[in-house]
Amino acid sequence: MFESLANAITHFKTMPIDQVIFWALVLNVGIFITALIGGEILIRLFHTKAVSEPPPPITRQEILLAICTVILNSGVLVIGAIFWRIGWINVRYTLDLTVIIDALVLFFAMDFAMYVSHRIAHHPILYPVLHRTHHQYENPRPLTLFVLNPFETLGFGGLWVVLLLIYSSSWLGIVIYLTLNVIFGLIGHLGVEPFPKAWVKLPVIRYISTSTFHAEHHDDRFHNFGFYTLIWDRLFGTISPDYLDDFNRANQT
Ligand SMILES: [Zn+2]
Ligand SMILES: [Zn+2]
Repeated sequence: MFESLANAITHFKTMPIDQVIFWALVLNVGIFITALIGGEILIRLFHTKAVSEPPPPITRQEILLAICTVILNSGVLVIGAIFWRIGWINVRYTLDLTVIIDALVLFFAMDFAMYVSHRIAHHPILYPVLHRTHHQYENPRPLTLFVLNPFETLGFGGLWVVLLLIYSSSWLGIVIYLTLNVIFGLIGHLGVEPFPKAWVKLPVIRYISTSTFHAEHHDDRFHNFGFYTLIWDRLFGTISPDYLDDFNRANQT
């Protein structure tokens, strides 16, 4: 399987640019649909563990913004592919332990970069133009993951491309990181808590983000700026004082 994936990635590097655009769109639409279906399944499985009120009916604006995000994310992938073709981004083909190291480096580097940029996005000057769009949705649903101001989508995409320009990762490290990125983004917008009661008591695990953690940010925009981990919020004192109570409340049933 790894070999055929590696071949597909090599093929992606050499195919005509119009085909790159086509496949970038297919991939992003596929991720979008998979995330929405996966989210719906998780909501049904954990419907007794609500972390926020049920969201109101979906609006036209949410759908249009989500479509815009999928198109822009495809554009970011095309730009990344172009940088890769001209040698600015280097992707390694190694399949050994360094894959895990790559995935961890990308995971923690993006977690920190997104924590910092998320706090900047909440600055009173930038907030109305960049980030308020996402916060219009106090009670998230899986689609909310994609409901972003286009400039914010490009900002996140820009961070990701810059990281790849700096850090030469294996292709599998990139695939693992991007998969985790979608999973964590989805969990944060479920509106239900899929993680068990013990999550917040286990060493190391308790520093990993939960649905409660990001749902709290939609409810209280002065806390919980992290995405994948609680590390930076704990370090910089921005974690919600109600985090454990809210998590345990969702897990009471
Ligand atoms: Zn959110
Ligand atoms: Zn925010």
